[in-house]
Amino acid sequence: MSISLLVSAVLRYGDFFGGTLMGSRWSTKDTVSHLMDQARQGVAWLKERSSAPHLAVIIVGDDPASHVYVRRKVEACSELGVKSTRIDLPEDVTESEMLDEVKRLNQDDDVDGILVQLPLPSQVSANAVIEAIDPDKDVDGFHPVNVGRLALGQAGLFPCTPVGVMALMKQSLPELKGKHAVVIGRSAIVGKPMAHLLLHAHCSVTIIHSRTPNPQSICQLADIVVVAVGRPGLVDGSWLKPGAVVVDVGINEIKDKELARRLFGEDSKKYARFMRSGRALVGDVDYRSALGVAAWVTPVPGGVGRLTIAQLMLNCVTAAKRRLS
Ligand code: NAD
Repeated sequence: MSISLLVSAVLRYGDFFGGTLMGSRWSTKDTVSHLMDQARQGVAWLKERSSAPHLAVIIVGDDPASHVYVRRKVEACSELGVKSTRIDLPEDVTESEMLDEVKRLNQDDDVDGILVQLPLPSQVSANAVIEAIDPDKDVDGFHPVNVGRLALGQAGLFPCTPVGVMALMKQSLPELKGKHAVVIGRSAIVGKPMAHLLLHAHCSVTIIHSRTPNPQSICQLADIVVVAVGRPGLVDGSWLKPGAVVVDVGINEIKDKELARRLFGEDSKKYARFMRSGRALVGDVDYRSALGVAAWVTPVPGGVGRLTIAQLMLNCVTAAKRRLS
């Protein structure tokens, strides 16, 4: 780091961390425990008054990644005493069969939350299925009614990943008001709801997407960066303002040796593990490079993914409480 960059880093670090010079891992562990505790208390409260929340999960076909995600969600339910029902449908299920299943779950008074694991096969419209879910059982927060509620700042059920990320920020950062937040990616699942939530927390928000010219120079202005793109190692230290805090939502499997060498460094344990298995999970942020400039960076794996599942449990509790009242 040049002397002038070092001086500007010291000056700018005042923003969040008054003097921290080396970047460090932004652990999500405490926030995950906090969310799980809140959910646990919610489950106990509901059990005293009626019964534990009940989540129904629909999964279609044999996609290995989808099965891993669903297994983790069901495990979290059993850890907290949330009742879960898993509905496995075949890869060749028709759209009308799926809509019938959703309708049945909407009408089942014993079910508080409905989650349809995406992606769905090409013959089924994900939009049609999401729109068929009762918005008050929509624990993923993808239904247009909940999207509208979020945009308007009303109460509702909102996407678990960005809400979990907000919980991390609120717990870790002294002040969000007035910060410049840059969200990279504009998906309905992460980018757009993330931007709304940051706006509600009084940040000034810029969204960068695939058609944004000079994304790097915009990102360099951010105090807070949230990256949800699906491009391994896209954001390195050259994108970041010294002292920025960075949330890496991306989860990408890499098999390319050169990329692994760049991201992990040749002498690292991670690179050795990659060379043994031929694959590795990485985020959208070049973690090593980003840590040289940023104050905090969330790790992948073991970062945002855990927040997402903990927040899903809280959404189940919220849905059950709303239905009870
Ligand atoms: P998506 O494919 O729906 O959206 C990607 C977005 O990135 C798009 O809006 C696109 O405009 C933007 N984009 C693409 N290339 C870009 C570029 N070069 N520069 C700037 N923007 C670019 O993806 P998604 O569903 O939002 O997921 C993004 C990543 O987050 C994926 O890796 C996904 O696996 C991961 N994810 C993780 C969790 C979790 O719980 N940790 C949850 C959801 C998604």
